[in-house]
Amino acid sequence: EEAVRSDELVFQHDARKHEAQWEISLLTSLDRAIDNGEVWVAYQPKLDLVSNRITGAEALVRWTHPERGPIGPDKFIRIAEEFHRIERITRFVLNDAVRAAVELEREGYEMTMSVNIAAQLLRNPALPGMIAEILAAHGLSPNRLILEITETDRLDRSSKTFQMLQRLVQSGLRLSIDDFGTGNATIDYLRYLPASEVKIDKSFISTMDSSEADLRLVQSIIEMAHSLDRVVVAEGVETLKNLEALTRLGCDLVQGYHISRPVPYRDFLSFVSGRRAR
Ligand code: C2E
Ligand code: CA
Ligand code: CA
Ligand code: CA
Repeated sequence: EEAVRSDELVFQHDARKHEAQWEISLLTSLDRAIDNGEVWVAYQPKLDLVSNRITGAEALVRWTHPERGPIGPDKFIRIAEEFHRIERITRFVLNDAVRAAVELEREGYEMTMSVNIAAQLLRNPALPGMIAEILAAHGLSPNRLILEITETDRLDRSSKTFQMLQRLVQSGLRLSIDDFGTGNATIDYLRYLPASEVKIDKSFISTMDSSEADLRLVQSIIEMAHSLDRVVVAEGVETLKNLEALTRLGCDLVQGYHISRPVPYRDFLSFVSGRRAR
């Protein structure tokens, strides 16, 4: 039994070493990847259920590694956060997204543009300046940019993060509470955060077709958010049944594979112009 246990330890040690080596090699290639054009931004449309129009997009970072193929943000964002690369990635995404919003406007589409902001970046005092600089460089109004933030810890109203969020809102930017319903501070965020939007996490949406309880939960979230004047977005809408149920429940906007996957900017533009032509 002793032998088995020590084998197990060796295995765990090797696995951890392997994991660490993998992370370091990923990090080294990430540094090159942005300059090489391996990192790019995909856009996923947000459909307004009242007007039946695409009124916004979410920017989602993509990394197509020349040998390893696509590496999902769920893998490399965490590593980027851990090794102080998140500011650089976010600058890249913001720049692309703001430019896309301005280009869309030139094409006749006035849309909001949503960008994900890692919790760690909210503690970086350089963030408001970076955003202001990018908006000014492209000439986009701050109220067209939505920062999607994920609840992590409890929201302490005397914290640096809270002060940062207030400062961002005062500068005219909009906030969205991402993955709503999954964190441990959901109600805190709704109470105290000057967010204009709530995004219901896709884990609720994917099960609401089959689970009556989840359907009721989604209904309650929509009612609660509406009573506080928040716009409600459902993410991960994959079926027509989903879409119809959310329409009945009075959800404002939907996003998901049923409407479109996140796609390169050119394809996003064809998608919206195809819908307009219909
Ligand atoms: P998120 O912000 O919650 O984004 C939603 C995720 O759901 C995206 O995964 C999107 O591609 C995926 N999705 C969209 N529609 C559907 C659907 O109908 N069904 C299903 N199953 N999934 C759908 P993705 O692009 O892999 O991103 C994963 C996470 O990585 C994001 O979750 C976000 O937290 C993070 N992320 C992505 N881009 C950035 C970025 O530029 N900066 C930061 N800090 N984080 C990012
Ligand atoms: Ca998001
Ligand atoms: Ca989300
Ligand atoms: Ca998420």
